[in-house]
Amino acid sequence: MNNNLANIKKSISFLNKDDCVAIPTETVYGLAANAYSSKAVRKIYTLKRRPINNPSIIHYSSLNQLEKDCELNKNFFKLYKKFCPGPITFVLKLKKESRISKIATNNKKTVAIRFPKNKITQKLLKILNYPLAAPSANISTKISPVSASDVKEEFGNKIKFILNGGRSKIGLESTIISLIDKPRILRLGGIERTKINKVLNKNIKYDKTNKKISVPGQSKLHYSPGIPIKLNIIKPKPNEAFILIKKRKKSYKNYYYLTKNKNLKQAAKNLYRILRVIKKKNYKRIVVEKIPNNGFGETINDRLKRASTK
Ligand code: AMP
Ligand code: MG
Repeated sequence: MNNNLANIKKSISFLNKDDCVAIPTETVYGLAANAYSSKAVRKIYTLKRRPINNPSIIHYSSLNQLEKDCELNKNFFKLYKKFCPGPITFVLKLKKESRISKIATNNKKTVAIRFPKNKITQKLLKILNYPLAAPSANISTKISPVSASDVKEEFGNKIKFILNGGRSKIGLESTIISLIDKPRILRLGGIERTKINKVLNKNIKYDKTNKKISVPGQSKLHYSPGIPIKLNIIKPKPNEAFILIKKRKKSYKNYYYLTKNKNLKQAAKNLYRILRVIKKKNYKRIVVEKIPNNGFGETINDRLKRASTK
């Protein structure tokens, strides 16, 4: 714990100088900077090579701080009570007096915000007197990092500091829900759609093709390991890595299992880690067996489809 506190303090010294540091969250690691400083936020975009029209998620630890920046509504409070802190991101209206950098929001009147669950990052946020803009800590369009060593792999010595908080518990990105007008899901993620439907007591649409709001999670090529991926395959060739949902009795060197027992939450947690393991070997192609499309299976299939786009 003392070690953690020392590292939190070290992160703060970088953040206060408008530098970025990587932070652990339960979804994936984030590349964080002071959300109120355009100078700091710009560094995230440069380091990640992220298009500037791709707004970032702002991370908070308290409602008091959040209230300074955005308008909260009934649906927000319902979902907040049930899921926060946790893997859900809300798109809300920005307040006029908000100090969030226009670079972080791509000059929009709305902002995406989240309350991360990782204890170390919560502690960091509590000490800071500003929220953190933090997109995933990977080079744009590549696989998101789920451990400190993944982040190191992405940025090498270009990143000044990585706050190590162990492996990400959820292992893929947050669900994004817009609460501006009618609630709409903009990105599938760490909270299942059916759970959100239950809390809001209606069927919330997944808006894949929304043109008005640009969401990078919606852009075609994303989450890519840099090798072609083919889905719904029954049998692989020898030079292909084969991803299977469940462990088989007979195993081969090129078989990679998402789970022992077909638990879809477990599969979601393992997906990016396995893609990264495969990426380091010399396979020509990744092929994936059919994954059930219910619960977290829907999110896994969404990520695989985007990762396979050429
Ligand atoms: P990342 O953290 O890199 O996985 O991506 C953050 C996600 O939040 C992206 O998909 C953004 O497009 C989305 N996002 C950020 N701000 C907004 C906003 N105002 N409206 C809609 N989506 C947003
Ligand atoms: Mg990302």
